[in-house]
Amino acid sequence: MARYTGSVCRLCRRENLKMFLKGDRCYSDKCAFDRRGYPPGQHGQRRGRKISDYGIQLREKQKVKRMYGLSEKQFHLFFERAERQKDVTGTNLLVLLERRLDNVIYRMGFVNSRTQGRHFIKHNHFLINGKKVNIPSYLIKIGDVVEIREKSKKIQAIEDALGAVVRRGVPQWIDLEKDNLKGIVKSFPVRDDITMPIAEQLIVELYSK
Ligand code: SF4
Repeated sequence: MARYTGSVCRLCRRENLKMFLKGDRCYSDKCAFDRRGYPPGQHGQRRGRKISDYGIQLREKQKVKRMYGLSEKQFHLFFERAERQKDVTGTNLLVLLERRLDNVIYRMGFVNSRTQGRHFIKHNHFLINGKKVNIPSYLIKIGDVVEIREKSKKIQAIEDALGAVVRRGVPQWIDLEKDNLKGIVKSFPVRDDITMPIAEQLIVELYSK
């Protein structure tokens, strides 16, 4: 399935959640969700629509998939991987998604959104343990050192993103050395580190049908 190229603000409105997909704009009074917090489209403001159990599960899956910017196929592959691991599949899925490099550099504050993160990774702006990595889906490991390449350190967008990271905060599983433009993965994230409202069990139920 092709990647979604339409307005990302529509996705927030569709999922009825501020998903912070657009960096600075999400914190400004231009946020489309704050201005029009109802679903997009001509029936968006219709009230009292009943949603089936399947519909609720589907929406939850779409929400998480969109939050992390994945295609259906990529998301399903992550789910299958989560299923093969021990422990709770839903939690495994969220932890795997958090470990993606595009998410990690977003959490470290080097970029304003995961989309920008993917873009920068593909353009070789990041090193992991001193080696170039240009795969956004790369899964970080404990002890990995993520840093910005010397020649990319002057990129204004990275400086801007780092200036704004205070707003989001850096999760406890990451050690950020802001002055050195470097982040170290101290541990894997745990369920409580993921603060967005996600009912991952609904996704497990959807895929178990
Ligand atoms: Fe979502 Fe950000 Fe757009 Fe607001 S500005 S609707 S939070 S993507």
